[in-house]
Amino acid sequence: MKIIVLKFGGTSVGTIERIKKVSKIISKFNKKYGVIVVSSAMSGVTNNLINLSKKISKNFSVSEYDVLVSSGEQMSCALIAAELINKGFNSRSWMSWQIPINTEGKHKFSRINKINKTQILSYLKKGGIPIITGFQGINNKNRITTIGRGGSDASAIMLAKFFNAEKCIIFTDVDGVYSTDPNKLRSAKKIKVISYEEMLEMASLGAKVMQPHSIQDARLNRVNIEVRSSFNDKKGTLITKRNKIINNKIITGITSTTNDAKVTLLGVRDKPGIAASIFKPLSENSINVDMVVQNISANGKQTDLTFTIKSEDLNKTKKIISQNNKIHFRDLIFDKNVSKVSIIGVGMVTTPGVTFRMFQSLAKQKINIQVISTSEIKISVLINKKNVQKAILSLHKEFKLNI
Ligand code: ASP
Ligand code: MG
Repeated sequence: MKIIVLKFGGTSVGTIERIKKVSKIISKFNKKYGVIVVSSAMSGVTNNLINLSKKISKNFSVSEYDVLVSSGEQMSCALIAAELINKGFNSRSWMSWQIPINTEGKHKFSRINKINKTQILSYLKKGGIPIITGFQGINNKNRITTIGRGGSDASAIMLAKFFNAEKCIIFTDVDGVYSTDPNKLRSAKKIKVISYEEMLEMASLGAKVMQPHSIQDARLNRVNIEVRSSFNDKKGTLITKRNKIINNKIITGITSTTNDAKVTLLGVRDKPGIAASIFKPLSENSINVDMVVQNISANGKQTDLTFTIKSEDLNKTKKIISQNNKIHFRDLIFDKNVSKVSIIGVGMVTTPGVTFRMFQSLAKQKINIQVISTSEIKISVLINKKNVQKAILSLHKEFKLNI
């Protein structure tokens, strides 16, 4: 029996009408495959549950948080299964603990490490359609866990891995992955095939289509993913191995972020160990430092150091740096008006001159680059937020993503 995993996101199951549509999609696939369905909570439900927890306490117990917020998935799965039963199919819901889907790690951020196949396999063999809760699991202390916001993607991918599914289809409210956010740029084009590596960079750098963790899981386990819409029949985007892709474009996609902040320390003493003493307390407080530049000091004594963090960590960072008596500096500057714009593509590995073309294209638009960082398959620049739209438009043209 060929198995396929179908995952439905919050908006795809957001209303009863949509749940009916979803059950039609499921019944179509059921003709050809053993179908495993994974569902997220109806849109808005998880947020509401989190808000309830905040009304009890800011320090709401993490184990009860997982019990609470995972309940949204119980609701949507029961609705889908019951609709299928109504239509004459053999279907039932499964909470993750009933399977069980085992997790390890901390509450709120657990990771799936094992899935018992016995019950689901025998149910599939009898022609049943199992509807499984995404986002949740059970740990070795017999407690319910969750695996991070947007975690149903990872649930679906791990199910596809353990059941050796032919493919995992992620149904969402957009019909695939685009060269850049189609809400920002009308000429954005749907990408037909993209590698795990590129998708991982795109998701981490601001494309909101899939949860980054889940793409990493798919890459490690070689699970083929298709991202498509549950609202229409259009072909989606295939996410797969790099060597399966023939691509004539140098750049695959462009992303921008909305939640970065820039920190600059002016007049820091230029001697060994200073950068370490600035970043150590930040890392100890789980503050993720992203881009870093240090200027060469003109006089050999003092230098300026700039780095970026997530804007939600700004206040914590201010406090930590001001209280750090190991470092001396003349001034401390914070700037929230920044955005990281990135171009991503495996094509740049073999093509010289990509950096130059990116910088030249931004220079023509008189856009000032504040910080630069690169990896094998991406180049990121930090620019003023007001220039993001202009930057994306010019880069999209420069790398011919609009044709
Ligand atoms: N319902 C969960 C959330 O909103 C999991 C998911 O949507 O994938 O984060
Ligand atoms: Mg979701």
